Amino acid sequence: MTARLLLDGLLALLLLWLAWRTLREPDLFQAGVHPRTKISELDQEAIETLFHAMKDVLREAIEHQAQPERLPDAFIVPHRHDEGRCPRCGAALETVRVSSRTSYFCPNCQPKEDG
Ligand SMILES: [Zn+2]
Repeated sequence: MTARLLLDGLLALLLLWLAWRTLREPDLFQAGVHPRTKISELDQEAIETLFHAMKDVLREAIEHQAQPERLPDAFIVPHRHDEGRCPRCGAALETVRVSSRTSYFCPNCQPKEDG
């Protein structure tokens, strides 16, 4: 019984971690947060915006069976390539390495707060 609960808890954590790894980039874009921003740098309002963005992105990803090319054009995912442009403002997307992964972001819509 206890082992079973522990296993469920671990599974939930694993799923959450996987969702964060794969959906982090579109979440941050939807919330207008720079990829290098630490959670500790976000205020309450930004955390709530990010939380709602995560829910929206997760719902869209499930609806479109997590296939990037089927995600709405307003998402950053279909624009992740060398010539990619921001679906919101049209600026050229930039890349940054975060935790050994390349993240695309818009320098206008996702400014780094402390420069
Ligand atoms: Zn933009």
